[in-house]
Amino acid sequence: MQAVEFPKAMVLELAIVPNKRAARAERAETDDSSHANTDFLTNSEIAELLAVAAETAKMPLQKALRRASRKAFLWPEEAGLILQENRSLTELAGVGPYLSKLISGWMEDPPPVGKPPEIRQSFLTLPQARATLSARGSLASRLKGDLQMHTHWSDGSGSIEEMARAAFDRGYEYIAITDHSKGLKIAGGIDEEQLQRQEEEIAAVNAALQAEGKTVRVLRSVELNLDPAGKGDMDSRSLGTLDLVLGCFHSALRRKEDQTERYVAALQNPDIQILGHPRGRIYNYRAGLQADWAKVFDRAAELDKAVEIDAYPDRQDLSVDLIRLARKSGCRISLGTDSHDPLQLRFMDFALAAATQAGIPAERTLNCMTYEELRDWAGRVRSGTAHLSQATK
Ligand SMILES: [Zn+2]
Repeated sequence: MQAVEFPKAMVLELAIVPNKRAARAERAETDDSSHANTDFLTNSEIAELLAVAAETAKMPLQKALRRASRKAFLWPEEAGLILQENRSLTELAGVGPYLSKLISGWMEDPPPVGKPPEIRQSFLTLPQARATLSARGSLASRLKGDLQMHTHWSDGSGSIEEMARAAFDRGYEYIAITDHSKGLKIAGGIDEEQLQRQEEEIAAVNAALQAEGKTVRVLRSVELNLDPAGKGDMDSRSLGTLDLVLGCFHSALRRKEDQTERYVAALQNPDIQILGHPRGRIYNYRAGLQADWAKVFDRAAELDKAVEIDAYPDRQDLSVDLIRLARKSGCRISLGTDSHDPLQLRFMDFALAAATQAGIPAERTLNCMTYEELRDWAGRVRSGTAHLSQATK
């Protein structure tokens, strides 16, 4: 999208009279790992400043500020380093000439950066994620695949074949195609009959790749839409033909009261093996649900099921603090990019970094299993929870 130039009056509205020394002191006091030891504002601090500025800005500036705040997590380099090299910040997604000037001004005279509110807390930036992975790369080195992505069968923009080829280029052994299920109309969810037709396409893609000597394999899956009672919207027999089923909530995500029961019910649903983007949070848009997470993860561990780290930059769900709790429970962890385009497979760094920071061992990570191990595990979980089917129907 083209950058918008904003009138001078708007620029003045945003002007913050900075007190450099006070700002530095405040930054030093905040005990947050997102504040790196740099002599410039980090991308995560810039994201927060942009989000705060949006709160008092008028349209269309407000929209541009919110967008840049969100995009800042995907900037591949620290804006501070770009400025040190006398390059332009307009290289960065969401930054036009106006925001470039605004951010450069902040960099020269840093305004105070407060602790982000919950709706913007615990999100990693791409440089932070990469720094984690270059310091501790053992989990990343054992990654064999990606377990959440969408294609043009629902709301993705790529074909199954394009996703599979992009996965092969990344050195993966497998991917799971998890298009939305029929209840999520807004995302073009698919029904049982489409799911069956998708099987033919997946078989053809697998055969074509194999014929070329490409070793990546496509697993059949679905992102099963769960109602707030933890029930899915597709026939169990149809789901039983898949390699894996990811269950996710997409409704009643703004409830304030404790939702532990809904999570326990979802985990006990015999049709699913992975609970996807558990909190349902979205950066600066929705804080997500509350639950007694230790209890939720304990139940997942008892059932040998997995909870997901959704790597989509706006989601990063679970976040590091909750992944640490999941590690204590010992439940399995699934990493999924929630890609809606082949290029988004690169989002995996966010999930890998979060899992690494939380100390998740490869042994508990589904994506470090071989193709055969993964299918065996899903089969075991299925038969292990089959007896629960009466209780959840
Ligand atoms: Zn979803």
